[in-house]
Amino acid sequence: MARDLSEFEFDPAILDGFTLEQLKCDACSGYGNCGYRMYKIKDGKPVLICQQKKKKLAALRDKERAQSGETAE
Ligand SMILES: [Zn+2]
Repeated sequence: MARDLSEFEFDPAILDGFTLEQLKCDACSGYGNCGYRMYKIKDGKPVLICQQKKKKLAALRDKERAQSGETAE
């Protein structure tokens, strides 16, 4: 009765170009569960990827890209 954990398997694609360290959920809400974390298994160890952090970082990155991409003048 092996449990299928494939849905929890870590896929680097979900990091969206960020590092695991950057997206590691450190309890954004202050209660150990920000409600946006995603549970995955990487190298046999559980990792928590915070969707909230990812969203924030992605927005920041987009902003930086927009700024460096072209000067609005
Ligand atoms: Zn979080």
